[in-house]
Amino acid sequence: MQNRESLQAIIRERVSNELFVVVSNREPYIHQFKGEEIVCQEATSGLITALDPVMQASSGIWIAHGSGDADQKVVDQKNHVRVPPENPSYTLRRVWLTKEEEDGYYYGFSNEALWPLCHVAYTRPVFNDADWKTYCAVNQKFADAILEEVGSRKAFVFIQDYHFTQLARLLKRPNIRTAHFWHIPWPNPEVFRICPWATEILDGLLGNDLLGFHTRLHCQNFLDNVWTMLKAKVDYERFEISRDGATTSVRPFPISIDFEATSEDARSAEVETEMENLRKKYGLRNMLIGLGVDRVDYTKGIPDQFRALDRFLERYPEYQGRVMMVEIGVSSRARIPTYQRVNDEIDQIVEEVNWKYQKGGWKPILYLKERAPATTLHAWYRLANFCVVSSLHDGMNLVAKEYVASRNQEDGVLLLSRFTGSARELTDAILINPYAIDHMAEAYREALTMPLKEQKNRMRQLRAHVQDHNIYRWAAQVLSSLFQFEFAEK
Ligand code: UDP
Repeated sequence: MQNRESLQAIIRERVSNELFVVVSNREPYIHQFKGEEIVCQEATSGLITALDPVMQASSGIWIAHGSGDADQKVVDQKNHVRVPPENPSYTLRRVWLTKEEEDGYYYGFSNEALWPLCHVAYTRPVFNDADWKTYCAVNQKFADAILEEVGSRKAFVFIQDYHFTQLARLLKRPNIRTAHFWHIPWPNPEVFRICPWATEILDGLLGNDLLGFHTRLHCQNFLDNVWTMLKAKVDYERFEISRDGATTSVRPFPISIDFEATSEDARSAEVETEMENLRKKYGLRNMLIGLGVDRVDYTKGIPDQFRALDRFLERYPEYQGRVMMVEIGVSSRARIPTYQRVNDEIDQIVEEVNWKYQKGGWKPILYLKERAPATTLHAWYRLANFCVVSSLHDGMNLVAKEYVASRNQEDGVLLLSRFTGSARELTDAILINPYAIDHMAEAYREALTMPLKEQKNRMRQLRAHVQDHNIYRWAAQVLSSLFQFEFAEK
């Protein structure tokens, strides 16, 4: 099994003679003012968990948008700061963006055009000429920063996500190898071709030596897009695209979590204490609990989760007063109108369903809008009889994997949307279609009546899969694919 140490050994043995550069929109460490003090926070995401040890082993450079209000205060003249703060071992280079750049590149083209375009959730993308121009200019700004850092050294640049489709093309040099990991779905050509800059985006991405998606279907869709829209040789046997004398390999690398760390934290005394606090605070004793954990996004199917609960309580009134659906819904991209609309829709449906069923002190939905720190989140995972992931479309969905890793007692049921990347791997979950409210209501019932033996059988399989296919294996697979070496998978 891969772990932090074996991944670091791979870096030292296989890729130590190249400068390692990671590029992402979000930075791994962010400096913020707390009163007069400056505090440094580690950003929490699977990506950062995986790449932070890679960076620490390779003493590389991470290039990202400096978004913390104290970020400028702590950098040197080259916009560098050494991280992690307690054990500085690599360099974070911050790129500064104006509000206008952030608006056009991040909110505009990345999140109003590409995000809805790639997540087929029936939200219309907004294509705006000025946003596209700003997006390209910001990609150029990042390219300039990278080229300045790399100089004439041999380097491997690992680009993250849909914010940087133009970057690899701008970096094309004999001393630079690039891989790009696309963290969201890639749609079929019928969907993607409505983008006025579809060919520019495909062309930009073909500047990479390696292009990674979560699933084979997304790789296949990408190949189909190139086949339909560009003049290129598409090799469907080898999953390779050749164009203008250069070849791009396209591969599935399903991202994951640090299973051992999540599982261990979920067993800790702090989590036990937090479970007791939550029981008291929200009156959860003797209550059956369903849990959802999402950024508030129109792709996550949050209103559908509540509509299904309404249907379930209507159909099975004996559960009224006995079941609570807890939704941790963290606000996200709230400047964008489509996000404001889904926020309002959720508030309204929570109000309606709670009004319809509330009795004594009981309400069926507990909607928490605060971001939960890891201890609280793990406590919720442990309290939940079932966890529901209702995404209308999702590249992977890590909440599903975290729930599984937290269930050390091997009980609990995962209800997982068929339209997530994780549903391709976690086949022992109850797979649901969030568009089919009646079926989802029946899935709630199935979860609540599933015999313990079956829960354990399923959960054991799920846990074994996530334990084996962890985040370190993901990183090792990307590296082995690019640097063409074999590593022991077990
Ligand atoms: N998360 C968190 N606190 C919260 C809610 C979510 O730390 O209150 C984390 C969660 O643990 C998970 C991530 O946010 O790692 C969400 O990732 P996912 O792949 O499920 O969805 P995304 O937000 O990337 O679309």
